[in-house]
Amino acid sequence: MRNTTVCTAIEKDSCYICTECGGCKISEIIKLIRESNYRNLYIVKGGRAIGKIIRKQKPEAIVGIACFFEGNQAFKMLENENVAVQFVPLIKDGCAVTDTDLTEVEKVLKYTIRSESNQKR
Ligand code: SF4
Repeated sequence: MRNTTVCTAIEKDSCYICTECGGCKISEIIKLIRESNYRNLYIVKGGRAIGKIIRKQKPEAIVGIACFFEGNQAFKMLENENVAVQFVPLIKDGCAVTDTDLTEVEKVLKYTIRSESNQKR
């Protein structure tokens, strides 16, 4: 999803750290994350990084934004983990200049938070 023509994100291991230049929707998603009680946002270079993040962060819930193929792979990878997983498919996929629907992202972020707080009651 990064706009690679303007992106100033910093590469670190298997992720990118967004500098919030405003060049793509990721900066908007970061704002949504800050308004919620999600702990982190990871821009991963590939699905393999997910397992490493899960082992390190031990999250209760994850919302992924990816193409159908990667999202499906992630679901399979996480089926035996004790974590709630939601997924927003890209509206334009490919290897670069992909896109997502921010309204859908916001809906899923809020739904997952509500589901999590209901489970804790
Ligand atoms: S908002 Fe972040 S990820 Fe998007 S282009 Fe700018 S630095 Fe890159």
